[in-house]
Amino acid sequence: MKIGMAGAGLSCAVIARELAENGHEIRIYEKRNHIAGNCHTERDTESGVMVHIYGPHIFHTDDDEVWAYVNRFAEFKPYVNRVKATTKGQVYSLPINLHTINQFFGKTFSPAEAQAFIEQQADLSITEPQSFEEQALRFVGKDLYEAFFKGYTQKQWGVSPTELPASILKRLPVRFNYNDNYFFHRHQGMPAEGYTKMIAGILDHPNITVVLGESFSRDMLEQFDHVFYSGPVDGFYNYELGRLPYRTLDFVRSEAEGDVQGTAVMNYCDESVPYTRITEHKHFAPWESHDRSVCYTEYSRACGENDIPYYPVHLVQGDTVLEQYSAKAKAEPKVSFVGRLGTYRYMDMDVTIRAAMDTGRAWLAAYAR
Ligand code: UDP
Repeated sequence: MKIGMAGAGLSCAVIARELAENGHEIRIYEKRNHIAGNCHTERDTESGVMVHIYGPHIFHTDDDEVWAYVNRFAEFKPYVNRVKATTKGQVYSLPINLHTINQFFGKTFSPAEAQAFIEQQADLSITEPQSFEEQALRFVGKDLYEAFFKGYTQKQWGVSPTELPASILKRLPVRFNYNDNYFFHRHQGMPAEGYTKMIAGILDHPNITVVLGESFSRDMLEQFDHVFYSGPVDGFYNYELGRLPYRTLDFVRSEAEGDVQGTAVMNYCDESVPYTRITEHKHFAPWESHDRSVCYTEYSRACGENDIPYYPVHLVQGDTVLEQYSAKAKAEPKVSFVGRLGTYRYMDMDVTIRAAMDTGRAWLAAYAR
């Protein structure tokens, strides 16, 4: 079959590979002049630092098949994400762990003491937290919420944490030990030569053609037996029902000699600081050594018409426009909407790969019937 695809990011790359290995012909249109979507990495020619051009991506998963898959296409190096946070004039460790709690409250608690203490702080009258704020007040209490989450979340999402769903905070654990690994998954690492090389490997198949610098448009539909679309679902319909809200990011790049902040990720949780975090990219590759450094200062704002959409904004109250677009998308006979933009979901890379594998296989199974 002749298959068209929109977008050469992780989703379409994985689906293309599944289908190509089963004899189908794939043509991918990518409007940017590079593959890999927002995972794109490029080595800075001057410093030699591998730069995560659209912001940092750290690979972590509990899915053994996904881990085997990425290791098939790239050499992974060990990397453990340890995030620091500056708030109220001090530096702490994230996710909130025993060190954070002891430092923040000036205590020397054991795990059991810390747990009992945090339970006193927690608002137990909230039995079924709906919003981000309720989730935080229920599980860490007012002081930690206001220091670490309230300001950062307001800056990141542009709305009050009372309007955001609890699911956003559920991404972050609270630990009553000194484990400061940001993720709890069994597998974690970084591709030694970056994500773009890994995705190039996935796309490297004689049945896959990638056309760079060209957008997929709906009038191309008739050229293909089926289309996988990883662009924004509202864009596919020319925004006829309005625009779905996204947050975009501005990265202010800076270069310097030496070690700028001593760590890969420093969050800035105070609302008075206009940016959310600073990332120092050479620390994402601790197996390398570079004299110079490249940093990104990250600002979040509402996504306008000509901006890159990063985070879909889901509110507690739901979104009827999204429901309408989803219904239209579901009814498309020849198009499957995939990935973060196609399905309007906040997806980690491992979830994206899993979803893409499942989509590709379901399509193959349906086609074979
Ligand atoms: N968050 C926060 N303070 C922090 C880090 C995270 O309030 O210092 C909140 C914020 O709302 C963020 C969410 O937790 O959007 C998820 O954090 P994560 O680090 O997973 O965000 P990502 O790296 O995916 O942007």
